[in-house]
This record gives sequence, structure tokens and C-alpha cells, in this order.
Amino acid sequence: MIKHNMVDLVGQYKKIKPEVDQAILEVLSNASFINGPAVQKFQKNLETYLDVKHVIPCANGTDALQVALMALDLKPGDEVITTSFTFIATAEVIALLQLTPVLVDVDPITYNIDPEAVERAITPKTKAIIPVHLFGQCADMNAIMEIAKAHNLYVIEDNAQAIGAEFTFPDGTVKKAGSIGDIGCTSFFPSKNLGAYGDGGAIFTNSDELAAKIRVVVNHGMTVRYYHDLVGVNSRLDSIQAAILDIKLKHLDEYGAARLKAANYYNEAFSKTDKIAYPKTASFTNHVFHQYTLVLNGVDRDGLMKHLNDRGIACAVYYPVPLHMQKAYLDPRYKEGDFPITEQLSKTVMSLPIHTELTEETLKEITEAVLEFVGN
Ligand SMILES: *Cc1c(COP(=O)(O)O)cnc(C)c1O
Repeated sequence: MIKHNMVDLVGQYKKIKPEVDQAILEVLSNASFINGPAVQKFQKNLETYLDVKHVIPCANGTDALQVALMALDLKPGDEVITTSFTFIATAEVIALLQLTPVLVDVDPITYNIDPEAVERAITPKTKAIIPVHLFGQCADMNAIMEIAKAHNLYVIEDNAQAIGAEFTFPDGTVKKAGSIGDIGCTSFFPSKNLGAYGDGGAIFTNSDELAAKIRVVVNHGMTVRYYHDLVGVNSRLDSIQAAILDIKLKHLDEYGAARLKAANYYNEAFSKTDKIAYPKTASFTNHVFHQYTLVLNGVDRDGLMKHLNDRGIACAVYYPVPLHMQKAYLDPRYKEGDFPITEQLSKTVMSLPIHTELTEETLKEITEAVLEFVGN
């Protein structure tokens, strides 16, 4: 029986239960399930939190990425550069729209897209770059924005894992993850750092023009009621989810601090062994620890995972198969060995429980169980 799960959404809910229950009841009592006042309120509050001009809520993070690409007027065969080490959704939407995903390797320390590899992958067909702020820290947005500017490319940030993280530019300017590129995308999947009690997502932009287009795309390509100027999709955040998210948004920074505290406890414990490389944070970003992911050095990963599970401790591998080795994405352009860092990470990473409700007692139990197996 697992007693320490990867997340503790029940424990988190208990602390905000009166507020959340009240907000849900309010939506029920006025039956404003779709596009109700709760959606507008949350949208405005998220715009303020991110310091971004427009937030367009949608149904989930995958839709957010798809709609972002649809808003850019790309043509089949146009190339979109992204990382080989991410959740499938990032590449899935590129392929779905008949665009060509161009994969590049990652930085071995942060596991985020390598800007030099991005630069090398640019061709005359390249139209956009999708950096992913993986596990909760920002990719090198200064380098990526410079490359995009030099080559006239769009940047869509996949911010599903790093809402609340901040990027510091060399001149000292600080911006929230997702507010830097042309468009930012996020997911409110329940286990994300800002999680709903169902599905949800949002798209961010500072461009009035892109915002207007995105609002049309998410609403069936409709400009005036029942007049459809382009082919769109149906992608909405419902009012119950918005009401819940609006409450959780107020706690987001405090949730981030709780995750960081747990991560620091882990780091300290694992700094004592060279069998584990604990996650490092780049100097230009903070880390909101969507995942606590370490790299094992000469440790039997399956054996360690079984050892932890036997002691009631959950653990997981994000992600065991690089994108270019996924069956649905096999492509003659790529073969095993093309992305050595991603391939090595997929064989050696392991994630431990990280959430807002971890006690020192639990952290002690988990770190001791890990160290017992790997030795010092
Ligand atoms: C969760 C996630 C998504 C997709 O979000 P959904 O809401 O599940 O569609 C996209 N990209 C990354 C990196 C994610 O972690």
C-alpha cells in the first residue's frame, strides 16, 4: 500500500475546503456554468498575477498549445523546434496540425532545451520555437528570445509545469514564466502547481492582435454569433473550475514556497552521496518544483523504485521514452543516439513525491529509504 503519494490533493483541499465549497455552491446556485462571472474574475486575477495583458482560458494545456499554434497562421510543413525531453503534448499538437516537429537535445543540468542546439536546428522552414519550462524552472529565455528575434521566429512557452516561476534577464528585469514569448500556455490539470478539480488550461499573450485571434479560435472560429471566419475549436474553462482556481491562485506563491522547502530538504540529504545528482537550478530562474527529479549515477533504478514502493513510497519516471523514440513519432530523420543527453536522462531520472503537504517526518522517511538502497 502506498502511503506517500506523488501529490496530496486531499490534504491540500482540506485546508481550503470552506472557501472552495462556498465558491462551487455559488456557481451551482446561479447556474452560470459556462462563461460565468467566475471565469472573468479568474482571468483578470491571473492577468494581474502574471503581469500579462491577456489571459484566454481554455479546456486543457494541450488545447492551449494547439490553439497557440493555430493562431500563428502556419502552413503544413512549417517547422517548429522543441525539446526531445518533455511530455508528449508539446510535440503532439505540432504533428496534429501537420507542422513538422524538429527536436533538439537538452541541457544536462537543467534538463531544459539547449539554445545552441535550437540555433543549429534552424532552417528556412522554421517558424516557431516551443521551449518547455520542465519540472518547474525556466528554460534560458534570454538566449531563446535572442535567437527568435535574429531569425524572425515565434516563441510559444509551454508553461504547464512552471506557473509562478520567474525568469531574470541579464539587465535585471524579472518576468513570470509564460509571459515572455509571443504566447504562453499552461495546464490546470489537478496535479499541476495550479491545479483545478478537473481539466483546464490557459493561453497568455501581451499582443492584442494574437489575443483577438486566440479568442476567435477557441470559440469555433466565430467572430459574430454564428458567423465563422476561420476553422476553430471548442475549448473552454468551465465556471466551477475557474472558481476553484481563483481561490488556489491566492495560495500559489505559498504553495511554491512549500514545494521549495521540501526540495531543499531532499537536496541536503542527497548532497551526501555521489550516486545521486540532485536537481540544480539555473542562475537566471527560480524553481517551483512541479517535479523533484534527480539523476541516478550507477544505481539500479528499477530496484530502487521497488524498494521505495515496498515501503509505501511512490516514485515515477518522467519521462522514460524520449520523443524521437516514441512509436507514433518514429521518423527517418531521427535515430537512437541523436539526442544523447535526453536518452541518458530517460534511463537515469527518477522523481520523488513533491507537493504542498509534505512534513519533515515524511521527507525523513523518504530520504532514508532512498539512501538505504543507494548507499552513501
Ligand atoms: C501537463 C502538460 C501538458 C498538457 O496539459 P493537459 O492539461 O494535460 O492537456 C503539456 N505540456 C506539459 C509539459 C505538461 O506537463
